[in-house]
This record gives sequence, C-alpha cells and structure tokens, in this order.
Amino acid sequence: MIVFNKPYITELEKEYVLDAINRGNLHGDGYYTKLVSQFIENRFKTNKALMTTSCSSALDMAALMLDLKEGDEVIMPSYTFVSTANAVVLRGAKPVFVEICEKTLNIDPKHIENKITKNTKAIFVVHYAGVSCDMNKVMAIAQRHNLKVVEDAAQSVNAKYKDKYLGTIGDIGCYSFHNTKNYTSGEGGAILINYDDALAKTAEIIREKGTNRNQFFRGEVDKYTWVDVGSSYLPSDILCALLWAQFTKIDEIQKKRKYIYDSYYMGLKSMEKGGKLRLPIIPDYCESNYHMFYILLNSNKERDYLMDKLKANDIYTVFHYIPLHTSPMGEKLGYKFGDLPKTEDLSSRLLRLPMYAGLEYEDLQIIIENINRILN
Ligand SMILES: *Cc1c(COP(=O)(O)O)cnc(C)c1O
Repeated sequence: MIVFNKPYITELEKEYVLDAINRGNLHGDGYYTKLVSQFIENRFKTNKALMTTSCSSALDMAALMLDLKEGDEVIMPSYTFVSTANAVVLRGAKPVFVEICEKTLNIDPKHIENKITKNTKAIFVVHYAGVSCDMNKVMAIAQRHNLKVVEDAAQSVNAKYKDKYLGTIGDIGCYSFHNTKNYTSGEGGAILINYDDALAKTAEIIREKGTNRNQFFRGEVDKYTWVDVGSSYLPSDILCALLWAQFTKIDEIQKKRKYIYDSYYMGLKSMEKGGKLRLPIIPDYCESNYHMFYILLNSNKERDYLMDKLKANDIYTVFHYIPLHTSPMGEKLGYKFGDLPKTEDLSSRLLRLPMYAGLEYEDLQIIIENINRILN
C-alpha cells in the first residue's frame, strides 16, 4: 500500500524530545522553543517569530491583532483551508471570496480590487502547494487601499517569492507544522510579525493570555498583569524539540521532495502532451518548497475515475478543498455554487499524488506507471 502522506521522522526527533523531557520544563517558550523561533527569524529573515500550537491559532491571533470586528471585510480565496476563513468569522467579520488563477490556484490579483469596499480591512493570501502568490501585485493593491496583508503560508515554509521567503512579505505570516506539512511537530505553527514592532508587542500579549508576561521576563515591567484580550497559543517545548530536529534536516527534506516532484513531472510529461492532464506550474518569480504534487484532469469524472483505479491498486491519492463558498458554512454566509466558476471547476478536477520525503523510489515508479497505464 502506498499512503498519501507520512512524516519524515528519524532517531534525532526521539533524542531531542527525550532531552526536552529531561530538561524538566515542558511548558511553552523553553529551550527548544527559543531555538526554533530564532531559526525562523534568522533563516527566513523576519523581525519576530512566535511559535503557536497550529497555523489555525496563528491565523486566529492575526485576526485579533488586526482588531477585526463585525462589519469588517477580509479578501481571501475561496480555494483554501477552513482556518483562513474561520479566523475572520470568529471575530464577527466577513470573508469576501475571490477567484483563483488557473496557473497557480492562488488568489487572482486581477479580481481583488473590484471586491474592495469601504469596509475592507485586510487581504489574506494563501500560497497554495508551496507556490507563491504574485506578491508584488497584492502588496501594491494593499498599499493603494491601505489594507493589511496576512500570508497563510501554512504550506509554504522555506519557499520563496523572488528573494524573499514566504510568510515574510505581508504584515503577518502564518506557518503550519502539522503532520501533513513539509516540516512537522505533529501539530504546530508560528506567527511572523514582519515589520511593525508595536504589532509584535500586541502579538506577544495576545499569545500570553492577554498579559505582559514576556515584558516582565525581559525586565521591562516590574510585575505582570492582564493588559488586553488574549488566549493561550503556546506549544509545549516537547513539540518544539521535535520541530528542531526537523529544522536540522530542512535542506535534506527539501531536496528529497524536489526529487519526487521532478520525477512525477518527467514521468507524466507525455500525459500532458497527450492532453490527458495538466501538470503544476511554478512561475519564474517563485522558488517552491515542493509541498505538493497535484495533477489537473480534464473533468471531475476523469479525476474520480483515476482516483478509484489507483485506490484499487493500493495507491492512495486525494482531492483537495471543497471551495468554501459552496460549503454549508459558505451558504450561511450568503454565498452559493456558481459564484466563482473557475474555483469550482479547478477544484473538481484536481488530484494530489503521494508526496513525502520518505517516499521510496520503487513506489514512485509504481505510481507513475499506474497513472500512465490507467489514463491510456
Ligand atoms: C494546513 C493548513 C492550515 C492549518 O494548519 P494547522 O497547523 O493544521 O492549523 C491553514 N491553512 C492552510 C492553507 C493549510 O494548508
């Protein structure tokens, strides 16, 4: 059986987790938490990185930090994970869904401006599959309309737009270290505050239950107290120990994923030439982290047929997001099927192939052979 996803865990993870336990402090912001947050700040070049329990909680924090409230609107793609929209809805604000580009399945900058109203406060972009949105265009629109930009870079840790790492371009970036992502601690995330020191201070307070505990530990105030609204978003140091082991292998993991991506690409190229499917596209401005390998079939029927046939051969592939505007919750928010035809069409034809650093060469060849055989 070839599974869809598997975390890349070696002895090193076990060693660091055990060490974290032996250190005796399992709470947040301990020894390993400092290592991983400093690694993010130095390698990806951001002003401030704070570890969180998930990307969902990083997005929730972002919505709190931007003080979103009822009546506010936030521009985002409909083709995304529920957490991007939940963060906004939890504040009582409204997600305004925008079409995606056929090329990258990322938000289409052409469609952003006509959705901006006097109530629009922010743009939440999603870098799908480790491939960047067209950030120069997004940032220019945001500047023109005085909007904040939040990057949902859950899938895009260690990927780049031009010379900048994803998550470090907008005002705020959100990372995921979930089991299914390139670098994982099972559950985990980070929030990046890229420019604004005041916003970084707000983030620290929100993350520490609305207290100025971090300032107290730095000796900036002489007692710590409740100063604002907040909650608890700190991961245990055990999770950060696991993640630290993953970060020491960051280049190795990326290299293995690139190899798999390139193998799929070459192995399926003739199918694309024959008009059976479309392969993913990485624009020149982007350096991918090879989070995903998807193919676009010609119809929903052909997609489901291929998925079933592969499953019958013990190969597990999966489709992806049901567009949020067509979901039951999307309907409650006033959207309906037909609102974003391109999003609906693309998502109905997309199939994700097994992709993880530990995928064996033989299995990779079996998958490619099977797809070629079934589609012919
Ligand atoms: C995985 C993912 C999330 C959620 O990440 P968690 O760490 O599981 O909360 C959010 N947005 C996108 C685009 C994702 O792919």
